[in-house]
Amino acid sequence: MRKNKKKRVGLISVDSKIPNLALMKISAYYKAKGHDVHFHSEYAQYDLTYASKIFSYTRGYDYYPDGTIKGGTGYIGNDAVLPDEIEHTCPDYSLYGIDYSMGFITRGCIRTCNFCIVPKKEGFIRPNADIDEFLRHKNLVCLDNNILASDFGLKQIEKIISRKVKVDFNQGLDARIIAENPEIAKLLSKVKWLKPLRMAMDNMGEAESVIKAVELLRKTDIKYKRFFVYLLVKSDIKDAYERAVICKELKLNPFAQPYLDPKLNYKNISAEQIKFCKWVNMRIFFRYVDFYDFKDTRIRLRKLRNL
Ligand code: SF4
Repeated sequence: MRKNKKKRVGLISVDSKIPNLALMKISAYYKAKGHDVHFHSEYAQYDLTYASKIFSYTRGYDYYPDGTIKGGTGYIGNDAVLPDEIEHTCPDYSLYGIDYSMGFITRGCIRTCNFCIVPKKEGFIRPNADIDEFLRHKNLVCLDNNILASDFGLKQIEKIISRKVKVDFNQGLDARIIAENPEIAKLLSKVKWLKPLRMAMDNMGEAESVIKAVELLRKTDIKYKRFFVYLLVKSDIKDAYERAVICKELKLNPFAQPYLDPKLNYKNISAEQIKFCKWVNMRIFFRYVDFYDFKDTRIRLRKLRNL
């Protein structure tokens, strides 16, 4: 019988800030078929090349070979998804040498926040994979966008708890669902956390839910009580400031991200937004200096010297 020729597969991670899950799955798929898989080098030849781009505002790669298969939310208008046989392959964790597992238990979301690509790209929430498909370590990073909105997702969290696996839901958990469901707060208190639980407060309309969720979670014996909160920073700095103050009063750890508007070609960020994000994300300033003082360098330095 004729054997299939061994192929060289090149992988391009254009802008991932964390190990790229899609490329790890592609790597596992081709290695299982006996092919050679490497990160792409402009000096080498490949039979097949895959590129993954996460962010639409970052620049592309300079050396795409002809026929490169491109995927990821970063390629505008490219809705390519992995074929099922690759999507449901256990990732090749050796590609990045990581000692934790990664995956999506669910895909999609029940909400339609106007700044978010998830509902457009993935649609409504649905089961994606049982943890047994990709869990190979005692630590797990789940990339789900709204796992608490799925009964399947909640069952998988119970499984994570029973396996004593440490987990980080790194896209955040929906505070509105926690706030309305004390039993979910109790369930989350049984999780072994890899990082403090993450939520989002992207506008003042979500503040009440975050406050209530924090109250419910803190009534349990959850290990880390200083939760992490994503803050989306649009042009309305006053709104972002009010949310940051709530985080400060609740002793939460916010992380501010400026909103990049695709309609304005991602060129909408003002100096004020950048300064605000710096203030929030540089913990020492956030804790000890008010934002409206932080705007003045002299006051900022004087206040810090007097700490
Ligand atoms: S809840 Fe999160 S994932 Fe869902 S649409 Fe809003 S921002 Fe996107």
